[in-house]
Amino acid sequence: MREAKNYIASVMSDVKYRNPHEDEFLQAVEEVANSLALVFEKNKLYIDKNILARLCEPERQILFKVPWLDDRGEIQVNRGYRVQFNGAIGPYKGGLRFHPNVNLSTIKFLGFEQILKNSLTGLPLGGGKGGSDFNPTGRSDREILEFCRSFMSELYRYIGPNIDVPAGDIGVGMREIGYLFGQYHRLKASFENGAFSGKGLTYGGSLIRPEATGFGVVYFIEEMLKDMKESIRGKEAVISGFGNVAWGTCLKIAQLGGKVTTLSGPDGYIYDPAGVTGKKIDFLLKMRASGRDRVEDYAQEFGVEFVKGRKPWEVKGDLVIPCAIENDINLTQAKLITQNKSKLICEAANMPCTKEAIAHFIESNLPLGPAKAANAGGVAVSALEMTQNSIRLSWSAQEVDRNLQEIMRKIYHTSADTAREYGGTLIDGANIAGFVKVADAMIAQGIY
Ligand code: GLU
Repeated sequence: MREAKNYIASVMSDVKYRNPHEDEFLQAVEEVANSLALVFEKNKLYIDKNILARLCEPERQILFKVPWLDDRGEIQVNRGYRVQFNGAIGPYKGGLRFHPNVNLSTIKFLGFEQILKNSLTGLPLGGGKGGSDFNPTGRSDREILEFCRSFMSELYRYIGPNIDVPAGDIGVGMREIGYLFGQYHRLKASFENGAFSGKGLTYGGSLIRPEATGFGVVYFIEEMLKDMKESIRGKEAVISGFGNVAWGTCLKIAQLGGKVTTLSGPDGYIYDPAGVTGKKIDFLLKMRASGRDRVEDYAQEFGVEFVKGRKPWEVKGDLVIPCAIENDINLTQAKLITQNKSKLICEAANMPCTKEAIAHFIESNLPLGPAKAANAGGVAVSALEMTQNSIRLSWSAQEVDRNLQEIMRKIYHTSADTAREYGGTLIDGANIAGFVKVADAMIAQGIY
């Protein structure tokens, strides 16, 4: 019988060999593998069945060309991706990201995270992710439509309500989902709205889906704070990003009597000591619709400070919530956060902290809410949207929100209880709890 640490080291060396130059993917796998040492020591069956190696290999990777005509009449070409990572517990499920940094490594890291995140929701969802290196910033509505149609003209063959169900992610919101679904609908000549989530309300979208990731993050933070005998009321939050996740986070924190004081974009960050509240939160929707990708517009609109080219982690706050993109917090920035005596950090974006930053937070005993647990509210409400589509009914906002709160509470307690059981951190708890369900389903299904 191989010993856990040796087994993990040998799988990791194969994974590195097989996926060279895929830094983000390897970072995501390594973090999970480290947590799994705790499980493998207790349950050797996972080693005997070589589950880690099987989990790290995507079931299917679809790469395709996306040609489209821009407004100047020139033909552009981008690359499209869909990685169907693991379908042991349900149809592949995960968003589509349109961002110039997207490559196979990004999509694989996100797809890998999605397997365990989706499992943690307790709902029957496999893991997948897709996207393109298309940059929507500054593109006209016609160009976005053209791109989405071309993207879906290829992808439609590989998805479906029981196969693979895409949703939004960075650069893909309700408008894009509408355009993608429209093309899918035409090509299939069949009204299969359960093939997408994040849709508009008129054709099967769910109430609370736009807010779900941000609301879920805040519900998760509430649970973390309860364990410290504290609450959101009166707390100041330093956040990054200005998109969908940041928007939902600002809304819920304001509703619960807290205050978000920063936002960030590729151009820098804003500091708003009065808080991003009321009409200012609505302004985030306008900023996104403008397609300009600049938080300086917020500073100009509301006369607050704009700090060019820097990240907000130098600002003091009780709660630190990265809501932007991966590796947004490095070791230097992590040190600023612990010096500022923040009460907790909660990952709203996927993998927003580098490996070194996480090690520093653990060493400093700063409670950390891991992304796959904390930001699972988005995909959880996607699953509720799929349920509504299959029973052809729509639930009220209260009903969806109540379900979301319950799911987030369960995710927190499952992760925290698992962490206690195995003597690990909350990160370990989330990784292990997500892993065990998928691994057991794989074992039950034979050589899967
Ligand atoms: N993109 C979101 C995530 O990272 C949502 C995925 C979905 O709803 O399928 O979890």
